[in-house]
Parts: sequence; C-alpha cells; structure tokens
Amino acid sequence: MPELPEIEAWRRALNDPISAFPIEKAGPAHIATLKTFDPPLSALEGRRFAGAERRAKRLLFPTDDGELVLMIHLMSAGRVRYLLAGESGPKSPAFRLRFEGGGELVLTEAGAKKRAGVWLLAPEEAEAELAHLGPEAPGLGTERLGEILGAESRRLHSLLRDQRAIAGIGRAWANEILHTAQLSPYATSTDLVPGQVKALADAIDSELQRGLELRERGAKDAKVYRVHNKLGEPCHVCGTPIARVDFEEHTIYYCSECQTGGRVLKDRRLSRLLR
Ligand SMILES: [Zn+2]
Repeated sequence: MPELPEIEAWRRALNDPISAFPIEKAGPAHIATLKTFDPPLSALEGRRFAGAERRAKRLLFPTDDGELVLMIHLMSAGRVRYLLAGESGPKSPAFRLRFEGGGELVLTEAGAKKRAGVWLLAPEEAEAELAHLGPEAPGLGTERLGEILGAESRRLHSLLRDQRAIAGIGRAWANEILHTAQLSPYATSTDLVPGQVKALADAIDSELQRGLELRERGAKDAKVYRVHNKLGEPCHVCGTPIARVDFEEHTIYYCSECQTGGRVLKDRRLSRLLR
C-alpha cells in the first residue's frame, strides 16, 4: 500500500498539472470506486482545482472557488497518473478526469477487487471524513509522540499503523522506522524509556524523509525499502539475515540483532490466536 512518502511524492508531482487548466469532463468512474453521488461528478466541470493536498494517505483536490473537494484514497492497489495531452493511457481506468487542454488524471487499480475510492464532497463534509485521523507523522517530536505512546498500551507496529493515533504510516514504513529506531515491533508502547521515544520520533522523521526523497527521484520498492520484504537478505546495519513474522493480519520484517536482542518473534496471527 502506498504510504505517506509515496502519496506525498505523487501530490507534489500532480500539484502543478492538475491546477493548470479547468476541468472539462469528470468521469466516468467505476461504480465501486465512486463513493458519493451528490453532488454528481459533473459538478466539477468548468471549475479549476486550487492544487493537490494530502492528509494521511489521501489525496485532496479542492476547487479554487472553495465549494468542492475531490478526495482519492488509493488503498493497496490504486495508482494515479497525469497524462499529457495525446499521451496514451489505460483504456478503462477506475476514474478519469479530463482537463481543458487535453491532459487527464487517471486512477487505475490492479486486480479484480475495487477498493480504491473517489469522493466528491463539500469542504465541511471532507473535514468530517478526515476528523478521525491522528496528527501527521512527520515532525511529531518526542513530546507529542510520548503522549501518543503513553495513551494506551499497544504493540509498536500496530500503533504506528493506526491512522487514528498517527497518520500516514503503514506496514512497510512501520518496518523501516522500527528498524532504524532499533525497537522491537512487539515492544509495548507504554514501556519505552525516554531515549527510545526520542529514537522513535527521530526515526519517523528520518525514514519518511528518506522515502520521500527516493520516491521523488522515481526509486522502486527494492531500492527504497531496506527491511520491508527483505526476508533473508543481510541487515544493512549488522549483516544478520532479515527475519519475518506474522502479526495480526500483517507480515512484519525485522532484524533480530538490531531490534529484539537476538530473540525470534512468535507468530501472532489472529487466525492462529482464534483457534
Ligand atoms: Zn541488524
């Protein structure tokens, strides 16, 4: 799933092209992709976007008259692209938006499951849709992060992925951040000592920044991630093979030398716990 660095890189790339011209034709959209029907997509036609914004893992395109916001959540497999006039693109994207001048914004989704979503909202409706989200992950700082960690006793990997607590991190960047902070994915949030809270706050900032810089240069997963999906490959810090464990519905990657004091983590899949 694209997370904050990926979405933010796309936001930056889309900001200028999507605000250069008014919208000529909005839609069509796949029936499962379009989540709202009032106002209709055609309400966008003739208006111009003020630019591209981002909140957590969502892209937001407010119109420059302040009346509408187009919101896109890509989920796991959704991707957005801006096509220049005349550039060939997908035949039947999940959502298409054509601008005067001929450019197009297209949303595609790999696989049969349509989980990505497009919403057309009034600004106050958009605000309500986003109200449950926690603060953005970058720049949280030690004090604020300490409050979030202390609010409830949670496993760190699970807490970092919880958008209501901290917005923008998913399973891939949780793996990268915890490795950099040298913390176990299973560590309990309320057990961290001040030095560990600081290490985690610093790792959130440095890893998301590293990811954003690489994504803006077009780097692919294999180069961007150093721990995530790297089972058996040597840890870039100590050389120990990266390990993997299933936790809840996720697969966690970690280094047993750097993060868990040599201990191998036990499988905690929900399916196994429920047996
Ligand atoms: Zn290591």
